[in-house]
Amino acid sequence: MKYKRILLKLSGESLMGDKQYGIDNEVVNQYAKEIKTVHDKGLEIAIVIGGGNIFRGLSAEKSGMDRAQADYMGMLATVINSMALQDALEKVGIKTRLLTAIKMEQICEPFIRRRAVRHLEKGRVVIFGAGTGNPYFTTDSAAALRAIEIKADIVLKGTRVDGIYTADPEKDATATRYKNLSFKEVYANNLNVMDMTAFTLCEENELPIIVFDMNKTGNLMKVTDGEEIGTLVAG
Ligand code: UDP
Repeated sequence: MKYKRILLKLSGESLMGDKQYGIDNEVVNQYAKEIKTVHDKGLEIAIVIGGGNIFRGLSAEKSGMDRAQADYMGMLATVINSMALQDALEKVGIKTRLLTAIKMEQICEPFIRRRAVRHLEKGRVVIFGAGTGNPYFTTDSAAALRAIEIKADIVLKGTRVDGIYTADPEKDATATRYKNLSFKEVYANNLNVMDMTAFTLCEENELPIIVFDMNKTGNLMKVTDGEEIGTLVAG
């Protein structure tokens, strides 16, 4: 394994599969199987999941809701997704802990950094729910923040596309995938890897990011093995 400790970021939308809303259990089960393959190899795994398949603060604000109120709802949506993944991981025999940035003591532990690290050392998969616990942030920022706090070697951003392209590959047939990019090149080319808050956090703390296609069986194993799939942003 190329890395010892990873932070895997999954978008809420990826959990929808072909649905328009909510959670497709087949996708969640597939992700759990993929995560098991790398967990079995001894990798320490922390996960942050988005909530965009259920609720997005920004969209709700556009239809008239108070932004902070809507963002808290978005954070709760990430907990629902986290619980679904926790269940699927336990079904495949992995010990997990869900730690949330908003206290919900009947269903999960509060986020305590030292505790999270201890769980990882003991081989438990740690899921960080409720984002950063603050409105006006995203789960990409939560992923960057938690990755730095637990000293993860890398953020693996699992998406539905296989990396960062010169243009939108769905709109432009000439678009090509970057294999490597520096943080400066991402700014210079106006590329969208994560939102700026998250991206800057990674840059300032020299935390590399790989964007890869999580929906392709075996890709998580390949990327953690150091195979050059997706796009690596570093340096
Ligand atoms: N959110 C927030 N603070 C955070 C993380 C998330 O307020 O630290 C809210 C925000 O409203 C966001 C929603 O939770 O729209 C879902 O998260 P996100 O959009 O990042 O999910 P993804 O796009 O990854 O599915």
